[in-house]
Amino acid sequence: MEICIQCGRCCKYYCGLITISREEVKKYAQMGRFDIIKFLKWNGRHFLAWFDSDGKKLPKCPFLSKDNKCTIHDIKPFMCKKFNCWEWPGFLINEALNE
Ligand code: SF4
Ligand code: SF4
Repeated sequence: MEICIQCGRCCKYYCGLITISREEVKKYAQMGRFDIIKFLKWNGRHFLAWFDSDGKKLPKCPFLSKDNKCTIHDIKPFMCKKFNCWEWPGFLINEALNE
């Protein structure tokens, strides 16, 4: 099925692997969205989402609501906007193994 059903699974499985560009971080800073920036981690090359203040990967995105909705939908990271699980075999394998 090639449609996002907003199940929120990718917001859990790919936590820690979401890459955010410097431009996006600058944009968040200009918007005063330090509540977003505080969950990012610099790995020497990229900003990655989502981590706690000790640099530990969170089990799921802190902006995922209890009913699996993105609470920062309008300004979510570019990678989130572009992600389609059906284009990622690795995701489907993970999903199958976790069923
Ligand atoms: S992209 Fe896929 S895994 Fe992510 S919310 Fe949509 S349907 Fe679920
Ligand atoms: S920002 Fe939104 S789409 Fe991206 S991982 Fe978090 S809840 Fe999911």
